[in-house]
Amino acid sequence: MVGQQPPLPTVHLRRGAAERIHAGHPWVYEGNIDRLPSDLRDGREVQVRDARRRFLGTGLYNSRSRIRVRLLSRLRETIDRDFFTRRLRTARILRERTMPGVSCHRLVHAEGDLLSGLVIDRYQDVLCLQITSLGIEERLPLIKEVLLDLQPNARVVQRRDLAIRKAEGLPTDPPSDGEEEILVPFGTLRFHVDPEGGHKTGLYLDQQENYRRVTRLLEQWDARRILDAFTYQGAFALHAASLPGRRVVAIDQSREALDRAERNARTNGLDTGCSFLTANVFDWFKAAPKDAPFDAIILDPPSFTRTRASVDDALRGYKEIHLRALRLLVPGGLLVSFCCSHHVDGSTFERTILEAALDNRQHLREVARFGQSSDHPVLPAVPETSYLKGFAHELLCP
Ligand code: SAH
Repeated sequence: MVGQQPPLPTVHLRRGAAERIHAGHPWVYEGNIDRLPSDLRDGREVQVRDARRRFLGTGLYNSRSRIRVRLLSRLRETIDRDFFTRRLRTARILRERTMPGVSCHRLVHAEGDLLSGLVIDRYQDVLCLQITSLGIEERLPLIKEVLLDLQPNARVVQRRDLAIRKAEGLPTDPPSDGEEEILVPFGTLRFHVDPEGGHKTGLYLDQQENYRRVTRLLEQWDARRILDAFTYQGAFALHAASLPGRRVVAIDQSREALDRAERNARTNGLDTGCSFLTANVFDWFKAAPKDAPFDAIILDPPSFTRTRASVDDALRGYKEIHLRALRLLVPGGLLVSFCCSHHVDGSTFERTILEAALDNRQHLREVARFGQSSDHPVLPAVPETSYLKGFAHELLCP
């Protein structure tokens, strides 16, 4: 292939702009560019070169995005059917290695699978695509063909509700109304899921490995009375309730999410051990009786910040819920908490938890750390691929 094609249009970078890209980051910002052909069409394949004209890779151009080029390959190659076949095969092999036998997983985690702008979540036969790059969207028919080659029985659907599509000049649609529900294995249970209507693509796939790990900790600590705050469709709560003799309280402010959580409970025969409450967690904590404490509390809130600028506000929010949760925990009990904001790193998050404990004159022992499930691979050179972190702390006896 190399050398037989007409040369690709070239995007030349400014001096000093190539270091991050050399190190493995695939984004070229507007400010990184020295010059490019004036007639370059959006979505077009381009080659990127540094200020000394050294080749950096092949990518897709979009003048409407802050990210002008998303590199897809470090080689001089055509972004064609063969290219997508290789990338998708490699992505599948990684899942077979790290999560063997798991039929609901993230098949493509954008940059984590060297496919900037493309996320594919697999729910057995349903493949749900989320595209945030114009160049990838233009190649959607090709990607669908490759997916059907690799999994001939698949139903390929696309969600177009992510707001960042607008920043790429792509149209958005609201999520659909949830008529296409399917029942799938998830963690160690079965869950009803609506890939085209639920949060993300229906389930928090990034927590899947953590359900098992947290459940194991609850067993080891013999936690009987368990609170799952921000439960969504009940995933942590129901995994906890699958242990014998547990009483689980699960809270979410979304009635719709809890309706499905209750259905998931019935489907798994776990409805007697679990009660679901519609409430704002912050308000509920304020009013909760202190004389009926929990042996374990799980906190998995939504991201409190989408930008670096609002990190301080977010940390105040994280501190507040930890402060209140810790007051409802028995000495020796477990606090399991997650943070899915890319802008708050693990050590900052843990420091916030410790500050909350100190304000309560409590002390903690760290007993486990969590990340995102291995079907959401992290490239250390691309910090944006890593976002979910969590800790389990034991409340020390005074
Ligand atoms: N633990 C879940 C994912 C939680 S997502 C899982 O593993 O599947 C965050 C959830 O928090 C959403 O369902 C949202 O409805 C809920 N939520 C957001 N703010 C809330 C608040 N202040 N009080 C209660 N629930 C809230």
